Amino acid sequence: MRLRMALTVTASAMIQTALLSAEPEVGFALYMTTPATNAPESKVVAEQMMTRTVDEKDGKTCIVWRGHPVCGDNFTVTATLAPTSEKDGWAYEFAYSGNESELGVRLIDFPVLTVPRTDKTEIFYPQMCGQVRRPKWAEVKPGANVAVAAMNGIHFMAALNGMDESWYVDQRGDARLRSSRSIVRNGEKPRTVTMLFRYAPQLTAENRESGAMPFGGTIRRFRGDWFAAAEIYRRWAWEQPWAKAAFARPQKEMRNIAIWFWNRGGSDDVAPPVERFAELTGLPVALDWYWWHKIPYDVGYPFFWPPREGAEKFEATVRRLVAKGIFVQPYTNGISWDQADPTWDGEGSLDAVVEKDGTKKGCQYNAYVPSALSVMCGTAPHFHARMRELMKTLRGCGLPGVYMDQVGGCCVVRSCWSPSHPHAPGGGTTMADGYRRLFRDIKADNPGLLVSTEDTPEAFLDVVDSAINLWQNGERFGMPAQPEAETVPAFMAVYHGALAMYGSYAVIDGIPPFDPMWPEEDRWPNEKPWEELYPDQYALEFARGVAMGMQPMVHQLRMSHFDDPRYAANFKFTVDTAKFYYANRDFLYDGTMCAPCTLTCARQPVELFIRGIYTKLEKARVVRHPSHATILHSVWRAKDGRKAAVLVNWTKDEQPYVLECECFKSSGSLAPLSWKLEDLQ
Ligand SMILES: [Zn+2]
Repeated sequence: MRLRMALTVTASAMIQTALLSAEPEVGFALYMTTPATNAPESKVVAEQMMTRTVDEKDGKTCIVWRGHPVCGDNFTVTATLAPTSEKDGWAYEFAYSGNESELGVRLIDFPVLTVPRTDKTEIFYPQMCGQVRRPKWAEVKPGANVAVAAMNGIHFMAALNGMDESWYVDQRGDARLRSSRSIVRNGEKPRTVTMLFRYAPQLTAENRESGAMPFGGTIRRFRGDWFAAAEIYRRWAWEQPWAKAAFARPQKEMRNIAIWFWNRGGSDDVAPPVERFAELTGLPVALDWYWWHKIPYDVGYPFFWPPREGAEKFEATVRRLVAKGIFVQPYTNGISWDQADPTWDGEGSLDAVVEKDGTKKGCQYNAYVPSALSVMCGTAPHFHARMRELMKTLRGCGLPGVYMDQVGGCCVVRSCWSPSHPHAPGGGTTMADGYRRLFRDIKADNPGLLVSTEDTPEAFLDVVDSAINLWQNGERFGMPAQPEAETVPAFMAVYHGALAMYGSYAVIDGIPPFDPMWPEEDRWPNEKPWEELYPDQYALEFARGVAMGMQPMVHQLRMSHFDDPRYAANFKFTVDTAKFYYANRDFLYDGTMCAPCTLTCARQPVELFIRGIYTKLEKARVVRHPSHATILHSVWRAKDGRKAAVLVNWTKDEQPYVLECECFKSSGSLAPLSWKLEDLQ
């Protein structure tokens, strides 16, 4: 039984009034098992409990469920809701006690918040930097999921109804360090939507009989869009010590980057284009260097050293680039060990995450070369030692930075059930604690080394310096076309300025890199003039992230791209973008994101050819946005208080626009492939 709070709450007038008009419901679910791997599991839901009461105590509303066939007559689950200082807000807590069974709690679904929706209700959920979904509700079965995200970044979601009543729910406390997922479902009852967080605690002797969720959160009724929801979260986040520490760091080296080049291959392929671009523009640039290592990509981790071309040439190239003021960071994978490596049995296997079924999962990322990469637990002494040794070697080559893939995007959400690791089985903070320690150890070993990881690493905000974010190119990860789905910069709305963010999949000739260490027969036999077939893809994919306040990035720049007339317009746009970004870093690096303005501009269809490094010919596909805004924009407040809108026209035609923001209104037009800063003072 979900609690129909609107009908039963006898709480304060404020809660009663607020909830009566909206009729939300709050429920829970517990997934219970024993610490043993592969043990059976029972699901305990509110509907199975024998009684339910609602009490008012010390200004709080306590919802108490008692008695369960498996957990015993005294099993008690308590949800507490207390008014917050914010209007129409409630802080929640969750606890259980009196469990008489041998089962412990593996997963807690709480709050399971069901609120009204219309056919136009939009969902914001925390997939990486944030996504808005506009489900075709009539086509979604009751109870079916519409959005599921592993929580590696921001911890809030919302059901959005514009200026009508909308609902927000978040996790607070130290939830950023813990294993959670967010799930949004069509409600079981007509015209409702259910939002829930699924938290994975650890199973310990202490929390079997009774326990509490170690963090709370808030539920909030509000009006507005995804940005209004982000503002609720950031008011809290900005007050947290770890966020303050991240914002307060000196970021001179990262701030001084005008554009990144994500180049893959040996020195002779990756370095000259970067050097030439720097000479041509006079801008400080960065090289994110993939495939420098002896192993094929996504095989043989974590044994990257030595470089394919030999240590001497690699180091000489690094030192030459650094001497020219070019920032260089080499790729490493920060979480994986290949089960095929001879060291697996003596080291990797001991450190690997153990799944609930007792297995050590191995993932094959590389489509061409068989491999089974296992994720290392947070407590992984052999892996930590190997990575620390590698980082010392890389630092010894004069590298100012290193990249550690997947830590930011994949590890916090995991649970580990190893009976031999020095942690209790389950989720908790094992992963975040261990990888935070690894980052800190690497930095202590190598003073001044800058460390980067992927996605939107809220758990590591204060221990890494930068992150590559690629979800603004979400079509490449299977995101459907607009208007059904849209990536929005919610993480940037909260944390812009706390660390450097960069990234894009934009390839100027449309040909993803192919590792010469892969089987030659898997290389596409005939490349087409992709820049003619999908003429807007490069500019759109490239510009989106910059419009979100990220540092520009181009994937696989080659010397042939500089002077070929086929790429001339896009190459000029690349140069112009880097110059624009660099000149406006007081907004785009240092600034705080403000609510978007209302921008009126033409819309047009655009097609994106979806093909990655592992995409075989027959698997390539096209995503078609039937009506995409021709101008992207964002609004920023500089540290000195100045406010400005950044606009970019990614099309090859001039585009007129009208910009309206609070008391400001302007109109004008943007030249093809151009940027503009509108002063909003
Ligand atoms: Zn473990």
